Amino acid sequence: MISVEPYWRNFIDGRWVDGGSGRLSVEDPATGEPLAEQAIADAADVDRAVSAARACHDSGTLTQMRPCDRGRKVRRMGDFLLENLEEIASLLTLEAGKPLWESRIEVEGAARYFEYYGNQAETLEGRSIPLGAGYLDFTVYEPFGVCAQIIPWNYPLEMAARSIAPALATGNACVVKTPELDPLSSAWLARAAEAVELPAGAVNVICGLGGEAGAALSRHPGVDQIVFTGSVETGSRIATEAARNVVPCVLELGGKSAALVWPDADLDRFMDSVRWGILFNSGQVCSAMSRAIVHHSIHDEIVERAADLARSISVGPGIERDTFGPNMGAMISRGQRERAEGLCARAESDGARAVTGGRPLNRPGWFLEPTILEGVAPDSEIAQTEVFGPVLSVIPFRDDAEALAISNGTPYGLVGGVFTSDVERAMSAAKRIRAGQIFVNEWYAGGVETPFGGYGKSGYGREKGREALLNYVQTKNVAIALSSGA
Ligand code: NAD
Repeated sequence: MISVEPYWRNFIDGRWVDGGSGRLSVEDPATGEPLAEQAIADAADVDRAVSAARACHDSGTLTQMRPCDRGRKVRRMGDFLLENLEEIASLLTLEAGKPLWESRIEVEGAARYFEYYGNQAETLEGRSIPLGAGYLDFTVYEPFGVCAQIIPWNYPLEMAARSIAPALATGNACVVKTPELDPLSSAWLARAAEAVELPAGAVNVICGLGGEAGAALSRHPGVDQIVFTGSVETGSRIATEAARNVVPCVLELGGKSAALVWPDADLDRFMDSVRWGILFNSGQVCSAMSRAIVHHSIHDEIVERAADLARSISVGPGIERDTFGPNMGAMISRGQRERAEGLCARAESDGARAVTGGRPLNRPGWFLEPTILEGVAPDSEIAQTEVFGPVLSVIPFRDDAEALAISNGTPYGLVGGVFTSDVERAMSAAKRIRAGQIFVNEWYAGGVETPFGGYGKSGYGREKGREALLNYVQTKNVAIALSSGA
């Protein structure tokens, strides 16, 4: 067991500082016991962080750097995380509850964002636009300046890296508001910025309460662009603040994503996708497979196999779950577990049946049994609401039109899955599913390179891939009138 430092500070303008709102106790979700304290920023701290980012941007240190040099620094931030992988992963497991092997994947995923966007730094090129003989016209991309990023607790490192890396690669300075429930490991992002000698103010990492520091950051007039990842409710508030200041924002929100499964699908592969799709990170994933919409002829077989899989999962402290296998950790908090438990209980009173799971474990910590529900009505609460827990609803369909209607019948549209060996059916469904990303025959197929974002209430704008670079820049057109006209 690693020893965890008892107190973690915020990082503003290149210095480690206390918080104006004091300290918050961070608990270990596997035990419910306090783990360490985190400095909590107030509005004045937010103001200092925004001013530091502004000064960094105005100094030109980042913007005038050759893009390849900026890119190298960004890449080296990822290398730094990998050099400290074991320490960061253990800390993340202790504060977030996920198995150690999952935390390692998260640190590697965060590092991969720095690698990918470091490599992209020198690839963003403008174009020249023909205006006839009298003009030379071209476009350039310029960073917005101060980029605010508000981060959720389910993947605190990966979600922050997903925004910090492209923001820095394109020359912005960042103010990152980390989540209250598991803010400790994010200090390593600031340590990475220090290690690669980014200028003071280029990366500010502050934890604070959403309604206080988060709200102060989203309405701060010194912020030029906002990236928010989190719930629909908060996203809508942040978009309102962004609109007041007339600054762009990207919203990466929740989902109620569905896999559509036809009888010609490879069901072994589908079961592998169930394992990853709803049990990875205890189902606390925005793009989780929370609904399986399956052809009626294979419904019973799928319910039985999914229930066997769920029963085979060893649920317990993440720190004891070192290697990949049929295991799962705690949910993030008592509140999240009780919310998921309540949704399962109400689903049963609405007529669904928990084939397995639906109950907390009888031990300290915030554990919920992996849960498979059948008999779920497509318009019931459990089929419409993001549980954000290890709970899969299985819903039968008779024909393709019904499958697609159920799949598209929620306000969300983050991802969708299609499981079939018929490529035409796969393509037709992929076209008709209302979501920003479609997985065919493998849930979570894709990577840092593939654009990600929502339709409908799942948000707007895209993170990941080349598309995300364009969130962090604006286009300037330069038209030169040539006196010779030649
Ligand atoms: P949340 O909206 O409660 O909090 C997210 C962040 O917003 C936290 O840092 C919080 O402190 C801050 N916040 C809260 N109130 C605020 C306010 N009034 N002003 C400014 N900031 C405020 O979400 P959560 O519970 O941390 O995360 C779970 C949600 O995030 C789920 O809905 C999940 O689907 C979504 N999510 C989406 C993606 C994606 O990429 N689409 C990724 C991960 C999580």
